[in-house]
Amino acid sequence: MTKDLQQIIHDAAQQISGVTRLSDLEQLRSSVLGKKSPLSNCLKTLTQLPIEQRSEQGRIVNQAKQEIEGLLKVKMEELQQKAIAEQLAKETLDVTLPGCGQGVGNLHPVTQTRQRIEQFFMQVGFTIVEGPEIEDDYHNFAALNIAEDHPARAMHDTFYFANGLLLRTHTSPVQIRAMQGQKPPFRIIAPGRVYRCDSDVTHTPMFHQLEGLLIDETANFSELKGLLVDFLQHFFAKADLKTRFRAAYFPFTEPSAEVDIQCVLCEGSGCRVCGQTGWLEILGCGMVHPNVLQEAGLSPEKYQGYAFGMGIDRLALLRYRIPDLRLMFENDRRFLEQF
Ligand SMILES: [Zn+2]
Repeated sequence: MTKDLQQIIHDAAQQISGVTRLSDLEQLRSSVLGKKSPLSNCLKTLTQLPIEQRSEQGRIVNQAKQEIEGLLKVKMEELQQKAIAEQLAKETLDVTLPGCGQGVGNLHPVTQTRQRIEQFFMQVGFTIVEGPEIEDDYHNFAALNIAEDHPARAMHDTFYFANGLLLRTHTSPVQIRAMQGQKPPFRIIAPGRVYRCDSDVTHTPMFHQLEGLLIDETANFSELKGLLVDFLQHFFAKADLKTRFRAAYFPFTEPSAEVDIQCVLCEGSGCRVCGQTGWLEILGCGMVHPNVLQEAGLSPEKYQGYAFGMGIDRLALLRYRIPDLRLMFENDRRFLEQF
């Protein structure tokens, strides 16, 4: 081997031993073996040699090349091992630490309450329907006999969109959609989220309502009353639960009533929750107003119906004795796991 080649191998070996990163090694490979490397220059000079010396000299250059490739390979393996060792050291797991376990989820109290209500009404022939949460003025107000200048609109604290649409303030628009889409007789319940611009101990901007509607040719108030008393006694699992119906006003029903139950916390003797009255207002109901039937395309001469609406969250609060509505929507698992 010529002195030149020995020098080339020596230089390459020195450069290779100084490399500490895989990426640097790749760069070095092209500078010691590539087209512009001293080794390539040696190969080029072969053509200037007499023909009988060429093959011998070529063999020697190739030998030098193999030697350098061997050095590169050894260095590469060394660096790869080092990288793996570093990675392992970084991801070390302390298996002696105590485990933190995986929490088991459960249904939200509002969901449990909604299902309990749905179950009762499905058993007496109601089907569940849904409607959009983004509504138009017609379905949320006008079709429900709440005209443009009706004071009830102010009480609803509506969230409006720039394009005139709104977040529904109650589940009652589903009544209109049901009447327009189904042929009587039918009976439906419509649970869902509703929205009002309101927030305190008993109000959240989003809450849940459940609406019920029955349309046929013979519906009457005593039937409605019987159904709701049955429901409330079933819901609170109290066969002798006292109820009372108070005349009330809703634009979309006539006659209308608000339904109270004897306070389930103090059994009627008076407490903070019932405001010392012994009674809790629990739902609203009434016979569907002729204007509403007409608006939905049903003849008030032929059909009549009744409707009722209740707050699912309020029923959940009472059933589980929860003091603050806002707790329901804070999603604190320590709270939600108790139900
Ligand atoms: Zn009470």
